Amino acid sequence: MLKTALMLNFLALGGCAAAPATEATIARPESVAVAPVEAADEAAASDLLKKAGYDAAMADAGERQRVFNDPAESVALKGDLVQGGLVFGQTLPGAKAALDGEPVMVSDDGRFLLGFGRDHGSSALLVVTHVDGSVVRRALDIGDRDFPVDRIDGLDQSKVSGFTEAQLKKIGEDKAKKDAARAASDASPFWAGGFAWPVTGRVSGVFGSQRILNGEAKTPHSGVDVAAPAGTPIRAPADGIVRLAEGDMYFEGGLIFIDHGQWLESAFLHLSRIDVKPGDQVTAGQVIGAVGATGRATGPHMHWSLKWMGILVDPALVAGEMPQAAAADRVGN
Ligand SMILES: [Zn+2]
Repeated sequence: MLKTALMLNFLALGGCAAAPATEATIARPESVAVAPVEAADEAAASDLLKKAGYDAAMADAGERQRVFNDPAESVALKGDLVQGGLVFGQTLPGAKAALDGEPVMVSDDGRFLLGFGRDHGSSALLVVTHVDGSVVRRALDIGDRDFPVDRIDGLDQSKVSGFTEAQLKKIGEDKAKKDAARAASDASPFWAGGFAWPVTGRVSGVFGSQRILNGEAKTPHSGVDVAAPAGTPIRAPADGIVRLAEGDMYFEGGLIFIDHGQWLESAFLHLSRIDVKPGDQVTAGQVIGAVGATGRATGPHMHWSLKWMGILVDPALVAGEMPQAAAADRVGN
């Protein structure tokens, strides 16, 4: 059973080559649209004019010119503008930002995140409003990706469908715990120090693959899987606060949530051991638990999901290339 799953996962991995390499994507000046207040509709413009401090900023012509003449300097983006991509933003302190009309959290020092789901369309609109009322609009081109089909057979059927009353009750209780753990996020950009792989090894399942479990089409794979022996330590990929640490969830088995701030959350599934508890502050590289095969899993591996404002993004894009020595060690497992 395990062999079949691993083989199919390996085939699915071929689709990964279609993913663009992780690289810094800084502002592309040709797509930058700087729109002073007159581009907004009149009512909005009138609101903007009323903003406290606007008149003062207008009087400071030097500062205003700086922002308008060099918008790339006032909004910098780093990351992958693709489906499943997470982008790290930096703007001026005090600014507000919105993506496709939805406000996003901006830290006091101007840091923010943008996330694009697996099925995001080909464009997005970022609007940044500075404290002086000036507005920077940037049209973002979001690259398409191909996601493989991932067939996994031999799973315990009771973990796939046809749940009993008792199982449905447990699934419902688990969901309530997860929802409660996701009720809040810290405003601090704990993510700003960057991300590293929590476990190194062969990637056995990629983000976004269409999952067919025991022949039934399910939701796309929510994260990335790394095959590793049971008991392998799992390290926090970035700083954060533990929001959930449960040993026995129905699907996830041993499960940890880490809040990286600004509604960015890591989830680690199928753990055999948990070393942290809710409320713990963790730093990048700290061991939080160990690899296992608990919950709905065919064999020991680490599943890592990354969610921003409820949108699943691809952890492999932020973690970058798998360290080669470690990956080579495990080939043939
Ligand atoms: Zn997985």
